[in-house]
Amino acid sequence: MKPVLALVGRPNVGKSTLFNRLTGTRDAIVADFAGLTRDRHYGSGRAGPREFIVIDTGGFEPDAGSGIYQEMAKQTRQAVAEADVVVFVVDAREGLSAQDHDIANELRRLGKPCVLAANKAEGMKDAARLGEFYELGLGEVHPVSSAHGQGVRALVDLALDAL
Ligand code: GDP
Ligand code: MG
Repeated sequence: MKPVLALVGRPNVGKSTLFNRLTGTRDAIVADFAGLTRDRHYGSGRAGPREFIVIDTGGFEPDAGSGIYQEMAKQTRQAVAEADVVVFVVDAREGLSAQDHDIANELRRLGKPCVLAANKAEGMKDAARLGEFYELGLGEVHPVSSAHGQGVRALVDLALDAL
C-alpha cells in the first residue's frame, strides 16, 4: 500500500498548488479566490523511488445549518482519517491566523503524524515571520514554495520519514 499524505490548511494557503507540484498535474483547481476546490481530490506522487497518494482538501463550503468553521473541521477530519501523514500548510506571507490555530487543535486531537509547511516562502528573509508558526505547537516549521518548487522534495521526504 502506498502511503497517503493529506494536505490540510485554511483556504488560499496554496494546498492545491502544492498538490499540483506533488502530482505533476494541473488537476487541482488553483484559485485566486479562497476555497474554490470543492471536494477532496486524490492524486499520485513520487519522491525518488517512493510513491505516495496525496489528498487535496478545500472548499469549506458550509452545509445548510453548519458554519464555515464546522465545515473546515469536518473536511480536515475526513482527509486526516484517510491519511497516514498530514502536511499542514500555512501561509508564510500572511503569518499565523486564528484558523491556523483551530486546525492545529483539530490535528492535535486526531493525533496523526504531521509536518508543518510554511508556504509562499520564496525569497523570504524575515525569519521572524516563520517563527510565529512555532506557537502552533506542532514542532519544526518547514519553509516551502509550492509555486516555485523550493523545499517541496525535502518536505515530502520528511513526511514519508515520519511514518
Ligand atoms: P488553496 O486554497 O490552499 O488550495 O490555495 P491555492 O493553491 O488555490 O493557491 C492560492 C493562491 O496562492 C493562488 O493565487 C496561488 O497562485 C498562490 N500560491 C500558491 N503557492 C504559492 C507560493 O509558493 N508562492 C506564492 N507567492 N504564491 C503561491
Ligand atoms: Mg485548493
